[in-house]
Formats: sequence, C-alpha cells, structure tokens
Amino acid sequence: MRRPVIAGNWKMFKTRGETSAFFEAFLPQIQNVSHCDIVIAPPFTALSTAVDDANGSIVKISAQDVCWEKEGAFTGQISVKMLREAGCTYTIIGHSERRQFLGETDEVVQKKAVAAVGGGLKAIVCVGELLAQRDAGQASEVVRRQVENGLRGLTGPDLSHIIVAYEPVWAIGTGRTATPEIAAEMHAVIRKTFAEIYNEVAADALRVLYGGSVKPDNIPALMKKEDIDGALVGGASLDPASFAAIVKYQN
Ligand code: PEP
Repeated sequence: MRRPVIAGNWKMFKTRGETSAFFEAFLPQIQNVSHCDIVIAPPFTALSTAVDDANGSIVKISAQDVCWEKEGAFTGQISVKMLREAGCTYTIIGHSERRQFLGETDEVVQKKAVAAVGGGLKAIVCVGELLAQRDAGQASEVVRRQVENGLRGLTGPDLSHIIVAYEPVWAIGTGRTATPEIAAEMHAVIRKTFAEIYNEVAADALRVLYGGSVKPDNIPALMKKEDIDGALVGGASLDPASFAAIVKYQN
C-alpha cells in the first residue's frame, strides 16, 4: 500500500550538459514505468536544467540540501522558496556525507526538515550508523536517536511529506550492501520510532528507503522486504542504464 520510491543522489557529479545527456538516455528507458515514484537529486547548479529535461515525465527533481531559514545572511545557502522556484519538489536532508564532513547535527537536520515540509517540499531525511557503532552493537540505538531528534516537531499534515532513508555509513560507496535482513530490521526500528513520536497511522504510511551500494543486481532482494519501500541510490544513479535497471527492479 506504500508507493515505492527510487531516488538517485548525484552528489557532486554532473554539469548541466552531462545532466541533459543523462535525461536524454534515461527517459526513453523508463517511459512505461508507473509502479514507483522516481526522484533525481542533481547538484544545485543543474537543478533547473534537470527540471526542464524531466518535464513531461514522471521524474521529480530533488535538491541535495536546503537551508532551515527562509532568507538572510547565510552565505552559500539555498532556501526552500528558491528550490521551489527552480522546480524542485523534494530535498534530501542529513545525508551522512554532510553529517560526517560538514558537521551536520540532528538539531540542524530537524530544523531543515521542519522548514522543508513547512515550505511545501517533500524531505528525504537520511539516517544511519557508522561501522564502529554497528560493531559495538549500537546500530538500533543510534538510528532511533537520529529519528527521534531529527524528526521531532512536525505537525500532522507534514508527516506524509517525510521519507526516511536508512543509509548505513559503512555501506555508502563501499560496494558493501547491507543484507536485506539487516536493512529490513533497521527499517522496522525506524517505523517503530516514528510511531512512538507520532502515531501508528503515520508510521504505517511512512516510506522508508534503503541506501548503500544499491545496484541493479541487489535491488530485487531488498525490495522483497515488506518494510523496504524503495532505495536512495548514489553511484549507480549516475549511469542512465544502471539507474533505469534499478527503477525497473520488478523485471
Ligand atoms: C548515497 O549517496 O546516498 C548512496 C547510498 O551512495 P551509494 O549508492 O554510492 O552507496
């Protein structure tokens, strides 16, 4: 009953020209797809190009980050209103690379989530434990805390605009995917925590994506798990053929 979402995070890859080349190759490959939502997150500079290129298709465009403030003296930041004007309908928030390399905390993630959904964007909020935390048996506790602290303070109607991506840091860009069992177990933790903060109805409707070295050959097994509602794909979303194959995981 939850509609699957396959989202691609391009990180700091692709110029505007490369973006157009991607869409030219990708769109014909997914023109008959209707079983899932497709989201692509290019870098800021290619957002409006991607919006134009995706026009008329089912692909929605996402930012990779957003500022929590509406406007002001925040050099380098981009607001919700600017993203909406560029044609974005989604934003990623709290990606582990931003948490690790740019000091993003749960508190910042929470402010961004509130600002994004309050301003009319859908937010893909990323959580996930480090390898050392998993090895120490703390994975569930870490992710529970990230959900509790990062997703507090949302109001009823906003909850349906939140998507959570479980991305174990040890699986991102490493080629080491979490097994479908590990991913499903962590997705259940996320859903349970969301039910505790809000309610069972919102938690049942919450779409929880898995991210971490998703490829065309491992997506079918992941998608068979009831609690896995889609994927956030990094490296394999850069290539039109591999991302199309992931989108068409049912074939
Ligand atoms: C990501 O960047 O969110 C990600 C999951 O990357 P990769 O698929 O390359 O592991």
